[in-house]
Amino acid sequence: MTRKRPIVAIDGPAGAGKSTVARRLADALAYVLVDTGAMYRAVALAAKRAGVAWSDGPGLGQLAHGLVADNALSFERDPGLGVRVKLVTKEAREDISEAIRTPDMAQGASLVSAHSQVRDVLLELQRLAGRGGGVVLEGRDIGTVVFPDAEVKFFLTASADVRAKRRHAELAAKGQTVSYEETLADVKRRDAQDEGRAVAPLKQAEGAILVDSTNLTFEQTVAHMLEHVTRAVEANEAREARKT
Ligand code: C5P
Repeated sequence: MTRKRPIVAIDGPAGAGKSTVARRLADALAYVLVDTGAMYRAVALAAKRAGVAWSDGPGLGQLAHGLVADNALSFERDPGLGVRVKLVTKEAREDISEAIRTPDMAQGASLVSAHSQVRDVLLELQRLAGRGGGVVLEGRDIGTVVFPDAEVKFFLTASADVRAKRRHAELAAKGQTVSYEETLADVKRRDAQDEGRAVAPLKQAEGAILVDSTNLTFEQTVAHMLEHVTRAVEANEAREARKT
């Protein structure tokens, strides 16, 4: 299928810088940004609130289904945060953007995302958000499962040590007191969970461009990826022009 504007898929392990890079690419291209990790984090938070265990696949599936059916989750573009997430219940409309960004919710998201019942529900949401093109989606399985036909696919990674250092600095800047050692352990634990699960495990998609940012600055990483996307956009435009 060819779209007027491409789908850009960015996958990779925790702390590789996907969110920041995705945000910059979406801004530069004026594309929609879809942070799929935020969806799994929101389900983890809602489950904790509702008393549904992160190990309870059927219960989580039902909860996720209910959240989507009730339009209880909203994702809005926010210049500072990237994506602002709100949880809408009968009682209140709550901004959960900060609450889902804790190490506890990162771990929760990693656990709930291993259940196919949850993935099936969120997969539909993600496809709906991206199918028209002109969108940057970031996550773990965008290029492998959600949009295997995406026009541009990246696998963004870096060494575990560098990813933990970046994540630690990010958390410290937000005032969260977590040690570097804990952050490294968290990164490694999530890598093992995300790569080892049976459903949609984290891996480089076929045709994905591998970007290892271990020795690259953020600006170099963005510039490198933007170059690939610009080429794909131009190829798409040329194809569209030939059609008319
Ligand atoms: O990217 P982020 O750290 O917000 O993702 C949180 C967790 O959600 C990941 O560790 C992963 O287990 C899960 N996830 C996923 N598939 C996606 C996006 C996130 O399984 N497409």
